[in-house]
Amino acid sequence: MNLSFKQVEKRFGALQVVDQFSSDIAPGELVALVGPSGCGKSTLLHLAAGLEKPSAGQVLADGQAVARPDPSRMLMFQENALYPWLTLAQNVAMALELQKTPRRQARRQAVAWLDKVRLKGFEDYFPHQVSGGMRQRCALARAFITQPEVLLLDEPFGALDALTRMTLQDALRTLIRETRPTVLLVTHDVDEALFLADRILVFSARPSRLLREFHLSASEKTHDLSNFAGMRREILSLLGITTDTASESLSYPEELAA
Ligand code: ADP
Ligand code: MG
Repeated sequence: MNLSFKQVEKRFGALQVVDQFSSDIAPGELVALVGPSGCGKSTLLHLAAGLEKPSAGQVLADGQAVARPDPSRMLMFQENALYPWLTLAQNVAMALELQKTPRRQARRQAVAWLDKVRLKGFEDYFPHQVSGGMRQRCALARAFITQPEVLLLDEPFGALDALTRMTLQDALRTLIRETRPTVLLVTHDVDEALFLADRILVFSARPSRLLREFHLSASEKTHDLSNFAGMRREILSLLGITTDTASESLSYPEELAA
């Protein structure tokens, strides 16, 4: 599914959040949005999901104005919203049952998708009995099981430690290769954007403007991002982060670290 923002503006009362944003996202493309906290990244996802309406301009999905939420456009948050009183399999199956899939068939498919995200054997655990990373794997299975055409991911791994995050990024990439959705990924992790994205959009602080776009070659990417060191430096510098070669550490402005 093609996703198209045409001169989109979004204001909340007097607060101008998005200013004249235009972009076309091709079917199957993964576009990462990075920018300072509060610049309107989540707002762009909400517009694409149909949870918010633009103050001016248009958001189109396959040429049709996005007017309301639809199961073909799936939003997933950082804090997975698994139901604590349902098992992992029931949480995943729920997505299908909402679409009127019979219960037993939904269960069978849920078990298969949990296997894909390496949760075989944990089907009947409750969310509090597994780790944060496992909960987010389950949330991925639930997001993918209905095979949405558009996935809107809002810092999906932001709450996880760095190592767990990388394994989740691998899982996400495997699922994406299998189902080829169009993906908008909001992340504050530049390395995550470099690893997963076909294209990275860097935004300024509010009212946010698109500062630059980076196209990434589709060649095999690994977590060793040394090929992208130059691009990484440029993106960090656009975000106001100094990459001092003399020191190992990066200094993050406070609002980005939040
Ligand atoms: P980001 O995801 O880039 O951190 P958001 O899109 O969440 O930023 O928010 C951008 C700005 O819009 C913030 O200042 C936020 O307070 C404001 N905002 C977001 N949603 C609403 C809303 N529904 N009503 C009023 N203000 C909002
Ligand atoms: Mg946000």
